[in-house]
Amino acid sequence: MSIYNFCAGPAMLPAEVMAKAEAEFRNYQQLGVSVMELSHRCPEFMAVAEEAEQNLRDLMAIPDNYAVLFMHGGARGQFSAIPMNLLGQGKALYLLNGQWSDSAAKEAERYGQVETFDLRQGKGCFSLDGLGDTSDYRYVHYCPNETVDGVALYDIPEVDAPLVADLSSCILGRELDVSRFGLLYAGAQKNVGPAGLALVIVRRDLLDQARPETPSILNYQVAQKSDSMYNTPPTFAWYLSGEVFKWIKEQGGVAVMAERNRRKAQTLYDFIDASPFYQNNVAAAFRSEMNVTFQLVDEGLNQRFLKEAEAAGLRALEGHRIVGGMRASIYNAMPQQGVDALVAFMTRFAEAHQ
Ligand code: PMP
Repeated sequence: MSIYNFCAGPAMLPAEVMAKAEAEFRNYQQLGVSVMELSHRCPEFMAVAEEAEQNLRDLMAIPDNYAVLFMHGGARGQFSAIPMNLLGQGKALYLLNGQWSDSAAKEAERYGQVETFDLRQGKGCFSLDGLGDTSDYRYVHYCPNETVDGVALYDIPEVDAPLVADLSSCILGRELDVSRFGLLYAGAQKNVGPAGLALVIVRRDLLDQARPETPSILNYQVAQKSDSMYNTPPTFAWYLSGEVFKWIKEQGGVAVMAERNRRKAQTLYDFIDASPFYQNNVAAAFRSEMNVTFQLVDEGLNQRFLKEAEAAGLRALEGHRIVGGMRASIYNAMPQQGVDALVAFMTRFAEAHQ
């Protein structure tokens, strides 16, 4: 039986990448040691690091006036690093559309003046109407894909300050015009690689604005000047992320991922919409292609659904503990067959219980 892992993160990684990592796990490039046993400064690892950065630059068409940093501390590390590096003595605006943008704003409030603008209109709709002039802010932060709520903002907000986006659950899932942003960041453990790594793509003119008390490990300029090796980086996570970048290139790049992701999401949403047994409360224009949330109309069947799904090889479908219900995370690594298997199971379950 095939096992499909719908975990929101750490999430499944491409089968081909895992097989390659397994094959070279104890003997990287005939060196007789694992890549995780190499010095981060040896030529073999430096090659891994440089190739990963170049492949990410190619995949996202990152312009030269942006630095790419491989940092520690996941996305929440960036919730602190961003205000420390960019806020100065000014104020920042956080757009709110779900759990993670709320958390990012709360963390930033610890470091200075933060204002918020709630995009939630009720009934699963979101709007920037009334946002007004944003030129007084040091930056505007938002989260294009809210992992917990299964909500996506596909239109990039028009703002007059550097735009900062949390791409943790959507990086490389579809094309993005990097030049519209001041800073992009993502925890790696969903669409990129193992946990322990955060990717930061930052316009170079924003590198040198950190407050003096910023911990060196969170300081963007320190990271950039040391090629993200100010201290020992998470080398294995960096290596495996690099293998995922190669895999995406081999598949045809981000455009191919985007096409597959659209089809997977469509399969699932079309099924949910057509079934009286399941529901999704997000307005169609704001539905996430990466995290498909849904509820059983009879919530009394939730535990049974999860147990039977698990027995059918469909793992980790439980919604986030804050919102309940179900969530199928279908990042780049999830094949269409996984989504088809889920729909087949949901059909069987509905027939057996209605
Ligand atoms: N932002 C988003 C959108 C996320 O989905 C997550 C993790 N689920 C985080 C931030 C926090 O990530 P980390 O655990 O890497 O700090």
